[in-house]
Amino acid sequence: MIAVSGRVSVFGKAIQRVISRLKSPKKVVNLCFIFVFFCSTLLTWREAVVLEGAYVAGQRNSLDNVATLLDRQLQHNIDNLLFYRNAMLYALQSPISTDRTRKSLADFDIFRSQPFWQLRLDLNRSLPLSGVSDEFVASGPLLDRDEKTIHTELGSALELSYIMRLSDRSRTLPQRVFYASRSGFFLTSTPPPNDSKIVSLYQRLVVQPYFSSQAPQNNPNRSLKWTHTFEAGRSAGQLVTAAVPLDYNGRWYGVLALDYPVESLHGFLQHAKYDDHAGTVLLYDNELNPIASSVEILPKQPLFTAPELAQIASVVTAAKQGDRGELRMDSRFITWAKLNNYDGLLVKVHTLEEGVQGEFGRISIVLSVLWMLFTLMLFVSWVVIRRLVNNMFSLQQTLTWRANYDTLTRLYNRGAFFELARKLSQRCQQQSQPFSVIQMDLDLFKSINDRFGHSSGDKVLTHASMLLSGALRKSDIAGRVGGEEFCIVLPDTTLEEATKVAERIRVCINSQELLLKPGKMVQISASFGVSSAFEFNDYDFERLQIYADHRLYNAKLNGRNQVCNHD
Ligand code: GH3
Ligand code: MG
Ligand code: MG
Repeated sequence: MIAVSGRVSVFGKAIQRVISRLKSPKKVVNLCFIFVFFCSTLLTWREAVVLEGAYVAGQRNSLDNVATLLDRQLQHNIDNLLFYRNAMLYALQSPISTDRTRKSLADFDIFRSQPFWQLRLDLNRSLPLSGVSDEFVASGPLLDRDEKTIHTELGSALELSYIMRLSDRSRTLPQRVFYASRSGFFLTSTPPPNDSKIVSLYQRLVVQPYFSSQAPQNNPNRSLKWTHTFEAGRSAGQLVTAAVPLDYNGRWYGVLALDYPVESLHGFLQHAKYDDHAGTVLLYDNELNPIASSVEILPKQPLFTAPELAQIASVVTAAKQGDRGELRMDSRFITWAKLNNYDGLLVKVHTLEEGVQGEFGRISIVLSVLWMLFTLMLFVSWVVIRRLVNNMFSLQQTLTWRANYDTLTRLYNRGAFFELARKLSQRCQQQSQPFSVIQMDLDLFKSINDRFGHSSGDKVLTHASMLLSGALRKSDIAGRVGGEEFCIVLPDTTLEEATKVAERIRVCINSQELLLKPGKMVQISASFGVSSAFEFNDYDFERLQIYADHRLYNAKLNGRNQVCNHD
């Protein structure tokens, strides 16, 4: 307990020492306020950093949710597409021959030279195969109706038409699945009527990049490819297609593909779950062409300029590790995510206005307002406390001054003077130096008060004390010890030297006339008594002062305006 209180007092003393070293209380107040301001700003900044981290995580999560949802949907559809390809491969490997297939193949042999035709195994359970003429196939550079394989391929496609009939027409992400053969026919989950449109449809399928890009020379890895195409016949005109080639026994048979009208991606992004004020989510293809967005229609003015898109592209390519990230662009916060199952980019744009309206924006505003209010209050209290401290400081100085000085003559008052004189006499005694005392009293001062008034008397007192201070050395000390009585102590000064000083002061006071009132000049005088320590072999100041006062009395008796240094 004692040790603790000891440590506390040591700590308290250390603080006191620091404060006393700072001298000015104003500096202490300033430092305290700067410290509080610094701490409050640091805390607010820390809060803001935490808030920003939470905001970034929120934005990332929001986009991640959409990306995961879209990826899952795409994965499901791509799995289906690969399943159809496997089904075709199995069928090519071991074809099934039934009466119905044989009948359909015989029909093909009859229809094959016609401009368009359709084969169907079962009206309800299978989809029709739609085809074009031998002549058409012969004219297409990528097309080839191989006599050795055409029947097997048609049989396999007829088998697939059963499976494709069951194709999942997801309402979340509507799509179309199809097989486009190089042998001049196609099978689609959305079959056309048996009319001349078949020719134009087939024509369109085989000239699209998703078909030509699957030629062995264009896709040596035989991998899945995404393409973004514009199909004039469709209402929205734009399709996003995933395509895989079908190869068997060294022959490229055709392409199995899955396409999404842009509207279906658009609808998906619009109906995905977002939090409030979520911003805009955009889907870009691998060349950063906008494909779909979460707003109802793609804005006429693109959300990003070409240089901004280039900036996003460079950030995405720079982020080699990971497939997600964020960047700031002007007042917009942008999060991006690569999709696993689509060769493109999902981008979320969150503007400052949306941010301000959101939860994080509101908390940030409250935080900033609180910080500003606190800073304002801190500033106001700083001004008030500074003023208080200033007043207290000057009051303290005035009180200290008044405790030691006489306000009229600005000389030491009796108490302070006696204390200083005592110390000085002791010092002289220790150093065996001479020490003298002069006692001074203004002559007939009462009559000045009587004739000219008390304030004129004060003026005389001020005047005399000013002359007195002016005639002394730095080491001498003067004080007002009575109404119009003054005392001077002179260290390291003999009786003779002190007498000379007194004489000099006497002459100085007596030689000047003082204007008390207009036209009223007065000449004043003073009487002096001088005593010294050597003379009495006594350094006691009080006694020396009494001796000097006796001699002053003698000077008065002898006619005033004179110095007396003996009894
Ligand atoms: P002497 O030559 O014998 O010293 O005559 P004196 O008139 O100076 O002596 P006395 O002691 O009779 O008078 C001193 C006067 O000083 C009395 C008092 O009214 C006046 N006095 C004392 N203090 C002050 C002061 O602060 N201001 C003014 N104006 N007068 C003061
Ligand atoms: Mg007097
Ligand atoms: Mg007197």
